[in-house]
Amino acid sequence: MPAASIASLRRFTEAWALRLGLGTPDAGGWGISVTWATKADAANGLISDEDAGSCVWMIEHREANIYLNKRYAADLAELHLTIIHELLHIRLEGHLPRAKRYDPHYEHAINYLSGALRALAESNPGDK
Ligand SMILES: [Zn+2]
Repeated sequence: MPAASIASLRRFTEAWALRLGLGTPDAGGWGISVTWATKADAANGLISDEDAGSCVWMIEHREANIYLNKRYAADLAELHLTIIHELLHIRLEGHLPRAKRYDPHYEHAINYLSGALRALAESNPGDK
């Protein structure tokens, strides 16, 4: 599989944001930026070095930033799963108390759903 370009990852994110009902900013939906994480992002605690990606979202503004770890640039499949995972966090916002920002059971469920949704999408020809 070829290394991921940020442009192709942004197109992938847009397609999956639509698929998950997050919409587009011009239609009142979410604005979601996708960037390679910088050293400053890591220093600010936005992403840990082991993670393929992370996401920060502001529900009141319908804006989110997905940070991807460039160490995973050669692993397109992992980056795609990570993007679906982060978009599911946005989709499910409100289903976990704000005070509990990390729950391993919740993360495990999102990982499972990410894989199942991707497999379902890939099994439908013409529906990438
Ligand atoms: Zn997560």
